[in-house]
Amino acid sequence: MSERHPEISIYGASGPVDGVLVTHEVGECLLAHCAIHSPSQHPLASAPLRWRSDLLILERVCPHGIGHPDADGLDHVFVVDGEMAAAVLAVHTCDGCCGSAPPGGVFVD
Ligand SMILES: [Zn+2]
Ligand SMILES: [Zn+2]
Ligand SMILES: [Zn+2]
Repeated sequence: MSERHPEISIYGASGPVDGVLVTHEVGECLLAHCAIHSPSQHPLASAPLRWRSDLLILERVCPHGIGHPDADGLDHVFVVDGEMAAAVLAVHTCDGCCGSAPPGGVFVD
């Protein structure tokens, strides 16, 4: 089954992309923490989500408009595609809002 997310914007390499993100449903998350359904505790857990259609990862957009790879999204990549893939996707222009936790890392507040 699938679930539509009109509230999540979609961005490609050259800007906004038309379309609606479709994901798995509540209860069908691969991991205990899911960026969409049950975010872990991280600094941008309540920031708006944005799907990067060019990178195939969810970002959190901080109050300054910077897109940070979602921590739970990175964990998902880590589990599905491996450490190297997650490390590559973790690289981003960061203003510090996401805390830059490494893939598989744990946030402590
Ligand atoms: Zn989920
Ligand atoms: Zn910021
Ligand atoms: Zn960041």
